[in-house]
Amino acid sequence: MNRILLVVAAILVGLLTTSCVAPEALPPEPDISYTEPPMPDGAGPATGAPEVDSPDPQCARPTASLRPLQFGPGQAGFAPENTPPSPTVDQIRERGRLIVGLDTGSNLFSFRDPMTGKLVGFDVDIAREISRDLFGDPDRVDFRILTSAERIEALQNSTVDVVVKTMTITCARKEEVSFSTVYFQAQHRVLAVKNSGINGVADLANRRVCAVDGTTSLRRLQRIVPTAQITTAAMWSDCLVVLQQRQVDAVSTDDTILAGLAAQDPYLELVGDSLSPEPYGVGIKKESEDLVRFVNGTLERIRGDGTWNRLYSRWLSVLGSSPGPPFPQYVD
Ligand code: GLU
Repeated sequence: MNRILLVVAAILVGLLTTSCVAPEALPPEPDISYTEPPMPDGAGPATGAPEVDSPDPQCARPTASLRPLQFGPGQAGFAPENTPPSPTVDQIRERGRLIVGLDTGSNLFSFRDPMTGKLVGFDVDIAREISRDLFGDPDRVDFRILTSAERIEALQNSTVDVVVKTMTITCARKEEVSFSTVYFQAQHRVLAVKNSGINGVADLANRRVCAVDGTTSLRRLQRIVPTAQITTAAMWSDCLVVLQQRQVDAVSTDDTILAGLAAQDPYLELVGDSLSPEPYGVGIKKESEDLVRFVNGTLERIRGDGTWNRLYSRWLSVLGSSPGPPFPQYVD
């Protein structure tokens, strides 16, 4: 009996001593700190004050362009022998290739096919249709990679024959270059991280936003949300990187471009209403009237023969069902 009591006492003493041991202190919180990832080349705070458009009485219908010469009822094609003489078009045909300015950072419009490395997209195909009418061959196209800010100068100094790069027709730009009729009607919107609390342009006040230099998007943001802290970059794909690195809270430009960025990141979404319509035209050197009419002929053809709708469903169905090609307006 004594032995049993001794064992019980020993167990009790053991229990008491273990329960009195002070709990082990928790390991200290690791001190995690992140270094800031580098910004893409050329990205940084926006500089300069927003420009103000001076109202130009000559520019009442900025999207109206020159009527195509060679387009008419019963005229089947655009074979060289059907085309009236025209200096710029002749020069391009003599060269044997159409030189097109665009960029490689606009998914859906002009970007490299990951499998082939070739430039593809809606804008690329518009350029190929112009080549088809010039040469009977859609492949006679040379590309020059341009940032948005380089588009006008590249036309003025003839580095390129045409710019097909999500380029909005504006009165200010029409003082420097010419445009075709509208080949796509985009809308200026906002791209943000899902559930970020940014639901439209009003939420950009005092927030960080990325936009590309030399664009209508940048100018409009500076005007509409003067308190936004704007980072500018050379290409829209740079703005995607800056947003993914959380160095900005949003990107704001055309829905077409934003849809191309959103397609590359499931955490992003387009939000809010349109800030403004963005009618796209093919940019052409100001003096090259014949080329403007020629390109407008191609645009007439692709509106009518189903090509435009085919290109829309190939590249842009992510934007919804086809609205149909924009109706052309002519000045003459
Ligand atoms: N549509 C706008 C513009 O022409 C933005 C498009 C772009 O940067 O390519 O300025």
